[in-house]
Amino acid sequence: MSPVSSVAPVIAIDGPAASGKGTLARRVSQTLGYALLDTGALYRAVGLAMLRAGTDLRDAERATVTARALDAAQIRDLTADPALRQDATAQAASIVSAYPGVRQALLDFQRGFAATPPDGAAGSVLDGRDIGTVICPDAPVKLFVTASVEVRATRRFKELGGAEKGVDFDAVLADMRARDERDTTRAFAPLVPAEDAVVLDTSDLDADAAFDAAMRVIRSHL
Ligand code: C5P
Repeated sequence: MSPVSSVAPVIAIDGPAASGKGTLARRVSQTLGYALLDTGALYRAVGLAMLRAGTDLRDAERATVTARALDAAQIRDLTADPALRQDATAQAASIVSAYPGVRQALLDFQRGFAATPPDGAAGSVLDGRDIGTVICPDAPVKLFVTASVEVRATRRFKELGGAEKGVDFDAVLADMRARDERDTTRAFAPLVPAEDAVVLDTSDLDADAAFDAAMRVIRSHL
């Protein structure tokens, strides 16, 4: 009889902002009954806590102390805060997430979630930037979801309400480029596809088509 593996399967979904990975991760987790961890929310929680405390975002030491001090209850409260989704918080997250101390402080929480998914779930879906490369390099399924920067900026522009709400497309595009630049060029855990990741370009796919393509990959790997 072959040994039964007790390891809960992990689906790693990485990619840049507004690539569609968050929506995809949610649908995949619901379909499979797996627990979902939006790891961007953890970095956003650190960024938001720094902004709220009026701390200089360039202070790597304070950012590390802030990340280490976050407990599960605070993470829950901050991630439920509407300010978490604001662009200022995203930019703050992208600055503090470049600090090795911050990444290290959040590592155990993410690995713990993957090793023992909450509520007895049979597996987990983690979405982020370095799940397939650093957090869960042994994940049986790795997807790298991407789209052109123009397509991603257009999605974010619409999400924010578009020109009717006075949103400036060029500013959204510039923010997206700045975040991509920081996330892909940082020295520690940069945003890159894992060697064994399947790249899914959603530039010309709607949410349903992206989901179907992802499920085909997942079913062939699990
Ligand atoms: O995915 P989201 O847009 O919420 O992430 C916010 C920021 O947090 C990203 O721009 C990135 O700098 C950082 N992040 C990260 N590693 C992750 C998830 C997010 O560095 N696993």
